[in-house]
Amino acid sequence: NLSDKLDKAFHILKGHGKITDVNVADTLKEVRRALLDADVNFKIAKDFTTRVKEKAIGENVLTTLQPGQLMVKIVKDELTELMGGDAAGINLSGTPSVILMSGLQGSGKTTFSGKLANYLKTKKSKKPLLVACDIYRPAAINQLHVVGGQIGVEVYSEPENKNPVEIAQNAIKHAKANGFNVVIIDTAGRLAVDEEMMNEIANVHKAIQPQETLFVVDAMTGQDAVNTAKAFNDRLNFDGVILTKLDGDTRGGAAISIKSVVNKPIKFIGTGEKMEAIDVFYPNRMADRILGMGDVVSLVERAQEQYDEEEARKLQKKIAKNEFGFDDFLAQIQQIKKMGNMKDLVGMIPGAGKALKDVEIEDDAFKHIEAIIQSMTPVERSKPSLIDVKRKTRIAKGSGTKIEQVNQLMKQFDQMSKMMKMMQGGAGKNLMKAMGG
Ligand code: GDP
Ligand code: MG
Repeated sequence: NLSDKLDKAFHILKGHGKITDVNVADTLKEVRRALLDADVNFKIAKDFTTRVKEKAIGENVLTTLQPGQLMVKIVKDELTELMGGDAAGINLSGTPSVILMSGLQGSGKTTFSGKLANYLKTKKSKKPLLVACDIYRPAAINQLHVVGGQIGVEVYSEPENKNPVEIAQNAIKHAKANGFNVVIIDTAGRLAVDEEMMNEIANVHKAIQPQETLFVVDAMTGQDAVNTAKAFNDRLNFDGVILTKLDGDTRGGAAISIKSVVNKPIKFIGTGEKMEAIDVFYPNRMADRILGMGDVVSLVERAQEQYDEEEARKLQKKIAKNEFGFDDFLAQIQQIKKMGNMKDLVGMIPGAGKALKDVEIEDDAFKHIEAIIQSMTPVERSKPSLIDVKRKTRIAKGSGTKIEQVNQLMKQFDQMSKMMKMMQGGAGKNLMKAMGG
């Protein structure tokens, strides 16, 4: 992927104590090739390396103490600039503010509509209404109702009505009458850009004049994503881009090209199928990620979001009193799971993405552990020392696991309890402080 290739390019520089014109040129050639391989448009890649070269010459890279690092910084800054500089916000000024989704079928509009509603509800204290304007497939309306049910957000639909403009207008009336302050309109998409679809979404757009028109695109479609973005932007003049399916090690090329081609900011990214898998798009963090430095800031933020200080204090007390049991262990696991897809999390750790590239990380890596704990009685959970061979056999049977797996978990639990006890002293407190803010 792009990160690996850029890594290799920089390796050329880092390997030399002294950098010469020749290896700077070599590196830039590699950078360009890496960008092209990641589906970055040819002209953008070429302009990019030209700018980096000019900057490198301007800053006298060759005469500085750590030319490799300075080069990395220049490339990172240029990448950040290319993807939009600062993070772009979302316009929530209307009463209600209306957000229209556009994009091809399968790009992730319906999923993202749900994620955004959930985000606005939980992070911005908004009262969103989801609107089903995909009139072609009854299943599509259903899908939005399922999503709405998951996140506790009302969904407005008119299954008999085949006029998306009317549905959208009625939904806005409904929102005004019922105190919704954000209206998110999910629309139909086609498999490819066609006139009928464009007319339909353009009509809705014209009739309701949304505060935000968002173009949703699948990052995995590479250069096609850029072409589709251009087609939609020509008709809708949209306000921002949503890049979905940026899970794990999806190539970041689309993120680099889109901004330059349509000159609209990427506002959010989707990083998984779950409702929580949404992140504000920060160009500098994306540049870090592309360059393989890992997205440490996002990781820490997620940890902080999920971290409950009250819970942590209770936990500390329990550990101090030797009362830490399997119920607490389970709660810890659920806490970790809330942070998101394990693969994404690992991908954010600098270096780990590469080190663990070939290791299969299942999203349900904790499935067995949870099953085992759930097969324990409450007494066993709070007093693990009670669990003898007989009980272990019963637990293994109840959870559909093997006794070795139960043994392994008991051992892990033991180690974790010991470690937590140790951490009570110095390091642990600092860690907890760092996480709790
Ligand atoms: P729509 O046709 O544009 O409404 O697309 P959907 O929202 O129905 O999504 C199409 C498929 O992509 C579904 O299976 C979603 O679960 C999946 N999907 C959507 N967003 C993401 C994402 O960020 N990551 C992953 N891995 N899958 C996604
Ligand atoms: Mg849909």
